[in-house]
Amino acid sequence: MRSQSDVVIVGGGIIGSSIAYRLASEGMGVTVLERDSVGSHASGFALGLLNPTNATGELERLVHQSHGIHLELHGRLQEESGVDLQLQTMPHIELALAESEVPELKSECERISRLPGFKTAWLEPEDAWKLEPRITRDLFGAVLVEDVIMLDSYNLTLATAQAAEALGVEIVLAEATEIHYEKDRVVGVRVGQNRIDCDAVVLALGPWSGAAGVWLDVDIPIVPQKGEIARVEGLDPVLGLHVHGPCSVVQKADGLTWLAATRKDNTGFDVTPSNEALETLSERGMRMLPELDSHRLVLQTACMRPVTPDGFPIIGRVPGQEGMFIATGTGGQGIVLAPAIGKAISDLVTAGETEIDIGRFGLERFA
Ligand SMILES: Cc1cc2nc3c(=O)[nH]c(=O)nc-3n(C[C@H](O)[C@H](O)[C@H](O)COP(=O)(O)OP(=O)(O)OC[C@H]3O[C@@H](n4cnc5c(N)ncnc54)[C@H](O)[C@@H]3O)c2cc1C
Repeated sequence: MRSQSDVVIVGGGIIGSSIAYRLASEGMGVTVLERDSVGSHASGFALGLLNPTNATGELERLVHQSHGIHLELHGRLQEESGVDLQLQTMPHIELALAESEVPELKSECERISRLPGFKTAWLEPEDAWKLEPRITRDLFGAVLVEDVIMLDSYNLTLATAQAAEALGVEIVLAEATEIHYEKDRVVGVRVGQNRIDCDAVVLALGPWSGAAGVWLDVDIPIVPQKGEIARVEGLDPVLGLHVHGPCSVVQKADGLTWLAATRKDNTGFDVTPSNEALETLSERGMRMLPELDSHRLVLQTACMRPVTPDGFPIIGRVPGQEGMFIATGTGGQGIVLAPAIGKAISDLVTAGETEIDIGRFGLERFA
């Protein structure tokens, strides 16, 4: 382990890895500290859906900026890391399973039709069944969005971390336990008996970010939200679209059909897969695609989204602490948001400002 680095990043999920990659691309010396292994938590188990059309309000611009960077980066990351991102481009279809859902979904369709770069259409039930005959007969219509991207989130995290390593980033599998300061300036990070001297620290601890608040003597209001996914046997013929309604159903590049995802608060850091989640996902999946009834469970995963009280991420400087940055609270959108967050933090560290739209997402809003 090096004893000196320009920047130390705590956390080797998709957020820490994306920041490391960007900083290293700018020529910075970077060390990533990861307590377990790269992508071993939510970043490695997320569904991997990049659908910016469902972002509205204050997050909309950031999500679209990030999606644009994703498109630029994918080829480069695969080439630089040798890791296959298992990219799939497919139609996304949002089902109206009750007549009362039709007006809202039709207005969604209109909103999406105004977004540049996305094609959408309202489908009557017969049109939806032409596209995928296995969709339930209890259907009142659907919104179709063409060309939505699905990838493997573990491979994306690994590819980003390995491309960062190829640029000189050191990834150390160890736990950060303390931050060292001189007056209000960050000067190092403690790792076991050692210390890494640095000019800047980025906290990217995902759902554990709240614990880092103790090091900083600042409240970081992040809590874990449990999310589970069931992977069942693949459909034959292959399901060629991402079906969404009460949950997501998609046949991924691993050949399995993924049913995603549950959201449960107040479970602490428990990641034991539960029967309750399996029943919920099976029931919701079968409401949309009854044929799933005969498909055997292959794998059930559980992990934690990092969530804030207002549902928005925390991205930027830690006020009053020179050299201290934070990037977390990405909830259910960390995979799509990671490239923009990587660029934003890298810009702040190297140039002091960024064009990425993070103005609203500072930690100071919780002061
Ligand atoms: C079921 C589910 C499905 C999802 N699907 C999608 C999706 O389709 N699209 C999308 O955009 N997003 C999705 N998300 C959200 C996304 O997975 C998260 O927002 C994102 O992975 C968070 O990344 P992170 O790097 O902040 O956190 P994590 O992946 O949790 O990484 C944080 C890392 O910090 C490390 N760490 C913690 N403390 C320390 C310490 N003291 N020292 C060193 N290391 C430490 C941990 O070991 C961990 O590896 C989904 C989430 C869930 C739960």
